[in-house]
Amino acid sequence: MKNIIIFGPPGSGKGTQSSHLIDKYNLTHVSTGQVIRSEIAAKTEIGKQVDELIENGQLVPDHLIIRLLTDWLEKQEESNGIIFDGFPRTTKQAVALKNLLSKKGQDVNIMISLEVPQEELVNRLVMRGTQSGRSDDKLRTIEKRIKIYKEITAPVIDFYKQENTYVSINGVGTEKEIFEEIIQKIDQLTN
Ligand code: AMP
Repeated sequence: MKNIIIFGPPGSGKGTQSSHLIDKYNLTHVSTGQVIRSEIAAKTEIGKQVDELIENGQLVPDHLIIRLLTDWLEKQEESNGIIFDGFPRTTKQAVALKNLLSKKGQDVNIMISLEVPQEELVNRLVMRGTQSGRSDDKLRTIEKRIKIYKEITAPVIDFYKQENTYVSINGVGTEKEIFEEIIQKIDQLTN
């Protein structure tokens, strides 16, 4: 069983590396950012509540995002494991995830933190914004999202250090180099 968290600031390559990992280990994938964007597109109650927050680069409140993740998990069949991409982003979410998985007799097996300098993140996200059409890939929002990452999300690392599942990966390099480093760590830490 490989339950993997792919962690890092916006623009660190979580989505890209997730897609390689899904293929390599035949995993299920959840991106809470994508779940939220679908809710917004479908104009659900939660979607309407969070539309403006997302556009401003703020985090969705814990109780809402935890509810969405809980609903998503309930619908999943048994698999080789799950890649959590963009979740948890607060320590409260990390605790909630531990509790949810423990109900299935599981835990997070590895937390991979992609490290990328701020200047590189901004460049990547500005570039992505010209193609993605995402409402939050604009310079002012990008800077805010990185600030929120540093202040609220980065402390989640401490939780996984205590769990002995935290691994730091240099997120600058070619996609392949970074992927090779990640799989080496996964193969060391999981079975
Ligand atoms: P992402 O696609 O992961 O960059 O997420 C896009 C946006 O969705 C974030 O900037 C947040 O506003 C929101 N979001 C996604 N995941 C979470 C989460 N785990 N907790 C709070 N907000 C989230």
